[in-house]
Amino acid sequence: MAQDLFQSPDYYGLDDLLSEEHKLVREATREWVKRDVSPVIEDYAQKAEFPKEMVKGLAEIGAFGPYIPTEYGGAGLDQISYGLMMQEIERGDSGIRSTCSVQSSLVMYPIYAYGNEEQRNKYLPKLASGEFLGSFGLTEPDFGSNPGGMVTNFKDMGDHYLLNGAKMWISNAPFCDVAVVWAKNEEGRIHGLIVERGMEGFTTPETHGKWSLRASATGELVFDNVKVPKENLLPNKSGLGAPLGCLDSARFGIAWGALGAAMDCYDTALRYSKERVQFGKPIGGFQLQQKKLAEMITEITKAQLLTWRLGVLKNEGNATSAQISMAKRNNVDMALKICREARQMLGGMGITGEYPIMRHMMNLESVVTYEGTHDIHLLITGLDITGFNAFK
Ligand SMILES: Cc1cc2nc3c(=O)[nH]c(=O)nc-3n(C[C@H](O)[C@H](O)[C@H](O)COP(=O)(O)OP(=O)(O)OC[C@H]3O[C@@H](n4cnc5c(N)ncnc54)[C@H](O)[C@@H]3O)c2cc1C
Repeated sequence: MAQDLFQSPDYYGLDDLLSEEHKLVREATREWVKRDVSPVIEDYAQKAEFPKEMVKGLAEIGAFGPYIPTEYGGAGLDQISYGLMMQEIERGDSGIRSTCSVQSSLVMYPIYAYGNEEQRNKYLPKLASGEFLGSFGLTEPDFGSNPGGMVTNFKDMGDHYLLNGAKMWISNAPFCDVAVVWAKNEEGRIHGLIVERGMEGFTTPETHGKWSLRASATGELVFDNVKVPKENLLPNKSGLGAPLGCLDSARFGIAWGALGAAMDCYDTALRYSKERVQFGKPIGGFQLQQKKLAEMITEITKAQLLTWRLGVLKNEGNATSAQISMAKRNNVDMALKICREARQMLGGMGITGEYPIMRHMMNLESVVTYEGTHDIHLLITGLDITGFNAFK
């Protein structure tokens, strides 16, 4: 890839809304992305390989558990800092941000929020340092948008639980050390279980052939009579609300992350439009190209305000699931549209790995689907404003 010349757009001076700590966190993450992600990420994506050597760097910048208290190895930061980190990391690549979202919000968060002190002490410091990588098993082959229908189940065998079933489309699965797995007990109630690599009957086959999130490894979690020690059950929350609580936290990070991908595409297209000459002048001087750029920066500015306000609400403990859904849906959709327009602005060069746009665009096709699809988030907003459930 060409040198990373990214300059962050801030059309409304929104930096004034950030604290010094927010800006420091963002700068440190941006510098790390420019140095350790941008020069190599295209190669990894082309090879469909997860850049394992980035794990250490991610841990060092605090991207694993940014808002988890420092006593458990987290960075102890607020929600806006978490959001800004995800923005900067996804500016580099959605796959790398996905690894952080899974580790922080789908593995560390449930262990922190629903686990006991022993579980927190045993797993969180290792996850924060990157010694352990985690995965989150909710989706099944026949239950995606409707996870409450899951069939993965566990039976109480006296001194252990016996886990059976399979999860599909699981980020980090092929190399995870631990998995937070959602399964039903004999009464049909959903619980979270910590499953460790090496437990007999637990396998994690990789999913190949993806055109999207190619630098993130995806796979299955298969449980064939896996004996799970009783102390691995998360004791403090059960029911579908438990995994959905984790998704709230991850979706919040995705809303910020998608903004990062959009900003990268806008910045790339803006620079290109000033350099690329056709019909004797830079293409940025043509009205049609200006329309695209003007609409991009308008949408980015609106999304920046949305995420910032959501961050304030989240810091106060007042962000609702429906508000998070709106931001996730809006920002990913906005980012995808900007990627498509930006790609056209680069003409033929837009389809190559010389520029990050096509990779962002393909990545976002997963982001618009996972953690609740575009349509499902619309139904969540619909339910919230009308009181009528249109899911069934
Ligand atoms: C790369 C990648 C990584 C992922 N990582 C993880 C992970 O780490 N852990 C995990 O648990 N899952 C993960 N997922 C799974 C993801 O969350 C699911 O793909 C997603 O929830 C959608 O489920 P599905 O693919 O089964 O689609 P389906 O639920 O079958 O949906 C198909 C279509 O039907 C629509 N639809 C469904 N129900 C309704 C309705 N009631 N009304 C209107 N339209 C409806 C959907 O919007 C969608 O357009 C990942 C997926 C991908 C692609």
